[in-house]
Amino acid sequence: MADKLKSDVIIIGGGIMGATMSVLLKILQPDWNIILLERFDKVAKESSAAWNNAGTGHQGNCELNYTPEIDGIIDTHKAEKVHSQFSQSLKFWQYLIDRYHLDPTFKHHVAHCSLVFGEENKDFLQKRFDAMKDLPGFDTMQFTTDTKVLQEWFPLIMNHRNPDQLLAATRVENGHDVNFELLTDELIRISESLGTEINVAHLVDDIDPVDNGEWVVFCKNLTTDEKLEYQAPFVFVGAGGGALKLLNKADIDEIDGYAGFPVGGKWLRCMNDEVIDQHHAKVYGMAELGAPPMSVPHLDTRYIDGKKELLFGPFAGFSTKFLKHGSYFDFFGSLDFDNIIPMVEAGIDNIPLTRYLIDQVLMSFDEKFAQLKKYYPSAKKEDWKVVEAGQRVQIIKKDEEGNGFIQFGTEIVHNHSGTIAGLLGASPGASTSVSAMLEVLHRCFPDHCSGNWKSTLDSIFE
Ligand SMILES: Cc1cc2nc3c(=O)[nH]c(=O)nc-3n(C[C@H](O)[C@H](O)[C@H](O)COP(=O)(O)OP(=O)(O)OC[C@H]3O[C@@H](n4cnc5c(N)ncnc54)[C@H](O)[C@@H]3O)c2cc1C
Repeated sequence: MADKLKSDVIIIGGGIMGATMSVLLKILQPDWNIILLERFDKVAKESSAAWNNAGTGHQGNCELNYTPEIDGIIDTHKAEKVHSQFSQSLKFWQYLIDRYHLDPTFKHHVAHCSLVFGEENKDFLQKRFDAMKDLPGFDTMQFTTDTKVLQEWFPLIMNHRNPDQLLAATRVENGHDVNFELLTDELIRISESLGTEINVAHLVDDIDPVDNGEWVVFCKNLTTDEKLEYQAPFVFVGAGGGALKLLNKADIDEIDGYAGFPVGGKWLRCMNDEVIDQHHAKVYGMAELGAPPMSVPHLDTRYIDGKKELLFGPFAGFSTKFLKHGSYFDFFGSLDFDNIIPMVEAGIDNIPLTRYLIDQVLMSFDEKFAQLKKYYPSAKKEDWKVVEAGQRVQIIKKDEEGNGFIQFGTEIVHNHSGTIAGLLGASPGASTSVSAMLEVLHRCFPDHCSGNWKSTLDSIFE
């Protein structure tokens, strides 16, 4: 075994989170040695890959699950929070465009629309619009039930539709489509140019504490088969679906009893360029009863590899893998004495979700296509094919009474001394990567954030 390779920071995972963390840290503390370890021979091949997510720059514009109606009142808090988090992402990306030549083609303006069917849902959308239109950041939102306006907003959805059907929609014209894969590639390029050591084809399989409070990360170079040990005072686990397993190996008390429940995704991808050209919006509908937040159906314009694309979905699926390229044993291997009871309790408390997932897994192509036809009535089967989306790991943890429940959002976890941190969970995901990484820094490096990093942070984010 070679000597331990020492550095100041080790980042595990070359997705959008690890890439963002590496650039932020290099800008704030250029003299630190930072090493990033990624198991694949390229970065951004898991959830951050372009086809493995919807590329929506989540901003609270169109996601109806961010604005639930509680006792007749629309709760806009989540939409406002996500809006301000995405604003931080935009500020950081603009800073990198101006200072570090970040290629801006990773994002495009695409209208964000919400679409509902029927009188009751129209009333909900109208209420939501009334609650949001005067809030900062949402003042350009428009609402309509007028079929002529809807025809202009999204002709594919309106053509050949029953004229008696009541539709209502909102639109925010300057929403974003973000190619998180391109962005991650760019962030890694910038980070490397600033001195970060990017080691691809390096699989991390264990993390252990050492007596001086530092961590040793055990890893295998998959090209040479060499076993390596890296040591650092701070480790960030940005391993996506692999994060829970690694944090468990580090044995930190803060995640005792946590379990992960994998939910896979599939899209219907349009293969006809003439159809793709006729749609220019991200149109979000309402999730079915019991569906997890990731399963809100949407008809999405995307920009991938320099080309306009169109997808519909996602459809949920169950796989026991925690990563798209993971192992079928991931789920079973993650179960232990501490987390099996919360897992069972969460399952019992979420029967509609379980039923929804079973229905989705059993769905044939024809059934998926029937869902698409609700949004795009004149769709032709030959224009569409099913493609894999990424895996998400929903976190199951104990509430204050010790009962298990499913947590749908993203959760930052770190140990008491702030020497190891990681990111668990799914939504709203990549769009909030900048605010999530800033939060990690504030929690783990509070003195730096209020001290020598403050003026740089202020200059980027104020
Ligand atoms: C169907 C679907 C739709 C989505 N839509 C959106 C959307 O519209 N907008 C949005 O903002 N977000 C969306 N998301 C969420 C978003 O994709 C994720 O939140 C984000 O990509 C997570 O980034 P990450 O860096 O944490 O994980 P990843 O991109 O998965 O990166 C983790 C990296 O760690 C590496 N890794 C794992 N284990 C190890 C190990 N042991 N050793 C070394 N390396 C390791 C992996 O290979 C991978 O490169 C969607 C997700 C899904 C599944």
